[in-house]
Amino acid sequence: MKTLFTHIKGLVQVREESSTWLAGEAMSHLPVLENAWLLIENDKIIDYGSMPNLPDKTWDEQIDLSGKFVLPAWVDSHTHLIYAGNREQEFIDRIKGLTYEEIAAKGGGIVNSAKNLQTTSENELYLQAANRLEQVMQMGTGAIEIKSGYGLTLEAELKMLSVIKKLRQQYDLPIKATFLGAHAVPPEYKNNQKAYVDHLINEMLPAVAEQGIANYVDVFCEKNYFSVAETERIIEAAQQYGLPAKIHVNQFYAIGGIAASVKHNARSVDHLEVLTDTDLNALQHTQTMPVALPSCSFFIDIPYTPARKIIDAGLPLAIATDYNPGTTPNGNMNFCLSLACIKMKMTPEEAINAATLNAAYALDLLDTHGSITPGKQANLLITEKIPSYGFLPYSFGQNHIEQVYINGKRL
Ligand SMILES: [Zn+2]
Repeated sequence: MKTLFTHIKGLVQVREESSTWLAGEAMSHLPVLENAWLLIENDKIIDYGSMPNLPDKTWDEQIDLSGKFVLPAWVDSHTHLIYAGNREQEFIDRIKGLTYEEIAAKGGGIVNSAKNLQTTSENELYLQAANRLEQVMQMGTGAIEIKSGYGLTLEAELKMLSVIKKLRQQYDLPIKATFLGAHAVPPEYKNNQKAYVDHLINEMLPAVAEQGIANYVDVFCEKNYFSVAETERIIEAAQQYGLPAKIHVNQFYAIGGIAASVKHNARSVDHLEVLTDTDLNALQHTQTMPVALPSCSFFIDIPYTPARKIIDAGLPLAIATDYNPGTTPNGNMNFCLSLACIKMKMTPEEAINAATLNAAYALDLLDTHGSITPGKQANLLITEKIPSYGFLPYSFGQNHIEQVYINGKRL
């Protein structure tokens, strides 16, 4: 089945090759082919060009996209979209000025999300997550990472990872699973955090690895959560099972988690709202992608990741949603793009590169996703008729994604 798209106003992120991430100044370059055609065959991108050079060949279907832009679908490299129920009450409590501790005491926070998840059936969890996944796909997400971490017991963590596996079987987009048993210390280990880390390393991790249902390991490396030393222990243990790290770090405090993560060749370090020069230097000449989560900063009203500082230091940057019930109940990558531009002072070109190519790197998907490149998967988003691709972040809070293709099939 060959489908030809014609008269595309702008074919965005066209690259003959895309074997590396984009860092520093290179992030400001976004290749766009105007008045273009694009040919896909079954699930793959085959060829593209400009309309005057349309080859004289046959195809099964021809679709006119006059006035519309085509981009590689967004890659959301950081989400927690499996959870049981919402946390609207906590939202109101926060508006009224309750502290984190008061909210937790009233039934909010990660630990309470975990309590809720532990008593929710796998099927119910699947149905809620599938609904969220379909919503974000409609908004242009064509590859995604999902974390466990609201289980905090072996059984509940495996239940979450099993839901991710089922989503992967049911949906065509790439779904990467991350084991985040070290999201918070469960109450039963409150006075013995070391015992929980031991349990995680000696019991949980081997069971997760044995089932082969995780691609990465993650740790909430933060004051009052998991220390740098504990983070390193968990990363090292996971390496024994071939699980690379993606680490929650520097959200509230700079405690040295970035240096520890890059030392172990973490695939990404995520959050980075608080970033010292030492952290910045630690990221130089590494294989670790910094990932900003601007919707989280927006929702809980904390500083934004200093994107300019990162990019101007010659580093790469990706953006992701952090979709989760507590701090980002929203999986809309388009809104992240707007925040990246408005709040983090990234240009639309930088933001689009951050949400496609660099995000694909953060999920080890650079060979197959993140750009319009022959041989890559036909995971595409098609806009409405809009004046420019910069209109996407400019016209914030509105959806301009008209169609989404996953593996060459229209949603
Ligand atoms: Zn997160």
